[in-house]
Amino acid sequence: MNVLVLNCGSSSVKFQIIETDEQLIEQDSDRRLASGIIERIGGQALITFQAEGHPKERRAEPLRDHRAAVDAILRWIISRSSNINNITSLSDIHAVGHRVVHGGEHFQKSARVNREVIEGIEECIDLAPLHNPANLKGIRAATELLGEGVPQAVVFDTSFHSTMPPSSYLYGIPYQLYRRYKIRRYGFHGTSHRYIAYRYRKLRNLEREQTNIITLHLGNGCSACAVLQGQSFDTSMGFTPLEGLIMGTRSGNIDPSLIEFLSAKSGMTIAEIDTLLNKQSGLFGLSGLTNDMRELLDEEAENQDRRATLAIDIFCQRVQQYIGGYMAEMGGTDAIAFSGGIGQNSPEVRRRICQGLGAIGIELDDEKNNHLNPADSADIGKDGSRVKVYMIPTNEELLIARDTFRVVADLPRQW
Ligand code: ADP
Repeated sequence: MNVLVLNCGSSSVKFQIIETDEQLIEQDSDRRLASGIIERIGGQALITFQAEGHPKERRAEPLRDHRAAVDAILRWIISRSSNINNITSLSDIHAVGHRVVHGGEHFQKSARVNREVIEGIEECIDLAPLHNPANLKGIRAATELLGEGVPQAVVFDTSFHSTMPPSSYLYGIPYQLYRRYKIRRYGFHGTSHRYIAYRYRKLRNLEREQTNIITLHLGNGCSACAVLQGQSFDTSMGFTPLEGLIMGTRSGNIDPSLIEFLSAKSGMTIAEIDTLLNKQSGLFGLSGLTNDMRELLDEEAENQDRRATLAIDIFCQRVQQYIGGYMAEMGGTDAIAFSGGIGQNSPEVRRRICQGLGAIGIELDDEKNNHLNPADSADIGKDGSRVKVYMIPTNEELLIARDTFRVVADLPRQW
């Protein structure tokens, strides 16, 4: 089955085409056939397409909306010049899988798109006013362009965390607010944490119920997840992705009283403070330089920039807090795993996070940490480290493609 995986943001669409089926999943040999991204939809859009084994193609083209963007993707996919193996017409696209950010309490697993599912996603717009409408535009565009006959599935960022117990998902605020407005912790990056935990289980040949690991997705957005007996028990993002770790531009945890204080002192509106916490904080706000971890590490190494060091150190310390906290909540863990752009690519950040964690059984092997291939999972713990340490590349698109296949073929979800 050739699955078109779509990830629609407010002004962008990312896609991959992945060939998968039961046998390919079993053999872990599903194939990515092509990928790409369209940015700045609504104006002169920037288009990057790439068929596997071929160079990237880049161009700019005015694209009015998400429908026009999906149309451009489909036209490229079936064009001769794209060189995609085995795809020559729209009938070679057998299903579409969409990443959807918020499934609220409604969706505990991936679902086949139908009227009821669309209504369920619409009901969650309140909780994700920027993301869910874009995801819905992607679903509508695919339906219009491919026809009702091509099955579609939705895979939610939140659903892996639907197993969190109330002790993990409730805030210490009046319970009625949860009842009335559904104010609670939902967690995000669920597809990534689920994938990392799945890979770890495969690496160690464990049953799902034996899987106890703390997964660390450290990219532009960052979150940690306590996976206990194969299920999400706790995670660091909350009602929105703002909670938890320090991120590229997000503050992570702060004292909520700051909002009132800042508003009184600076005259900023609530909306402006929200933007400040989401877009001008985190690594960017602390360093005053950039949200990009690689650039901060370079600044530190080349110019001994004090605030770059501060930003990296605070970032790492916050991750340590979650590792320690989750170990306490879980009664210990068998492993931790680093993933995401930073977790996969930066031996230095992994080193700084693991520094001093010997006391709680986490010991990194410097040699293994410094010499790994970021594309392949690796055990980077010291021999004898009580808690194993892994680097596991995430692959949300693959999991979306597999879920889509299973939903469409009516097979039970496995992970
Ligand atoms: P997103 O969350 O947008 O998918 P990524 O997972 O691609 O983002 O992560 C982006 C982050 O990964 C950036 O902060 C980038 O600097 C960082 N990164 C990528 N490569 C390296 C590297 N070699 N060393 C340190 N950080 C890196």
